[in-house]
Amino acid sequence: MTGRVVSQPGYTLPLTNPVMVGYKKPCRFCGNLVEELSVMCPFCGRAHPLQAVCPYCIAPIQPGWAVCNTCTKPLVIPCPRCGAQVGPDTDVCDRCKTVVRYRCPTCVVVIAVGDKKCPRCGTKLKEYWKSKGL
Ligand SMILES: [Zn+2]
Ligand SMILES: [Zn+2]
Ligand SMILES: [Zn+2]
Ligand SMILES: [Zn+2]
Repeated sequence: MTGRVVSQPGYTLPLTNPVMVGYKKPCRFCGNLVEELSVMCPFCGRAHPLQAVCPYCIAPIQPGWAVCNTCTKPLVIPCPRCGAQVGPDTDVCDRCKTVVRYRCPTCVVVIAVGDKKCPRCGTKLKEYWKSKGL
């Protein structure tokens, strides 16, 4: 007898839903067309390419808001290294390139360094922190 099937307990990433083709809109950062339900732009890698949302609770926000009116978390935070203001659309300080926020690789909600799994979608984060060297 041959052909013993070895199944690997691999690390499977959740596949994104096979969204119907056709509904694409320009990313508000880079202008490339992305699927309507994308949580991350595949071209520029930024979160929520089609609509400004709170990075903590994913409620829609308006440009210029300093605080989310749903979860009351500050949307603009000072960079811990240089003190520059970092808004909700970026996680890296423009001035000194310090990472000011980390996001779940699946649902892109903000996660705290060291979280074992995403509080929103439950994605296990051990590998993610390892890949970031944390
Ligand atoms: Zn983009
Ligand atoms: Zn919020
Ligand atoms: Zn900075
Ligand atoms: Zn998540």
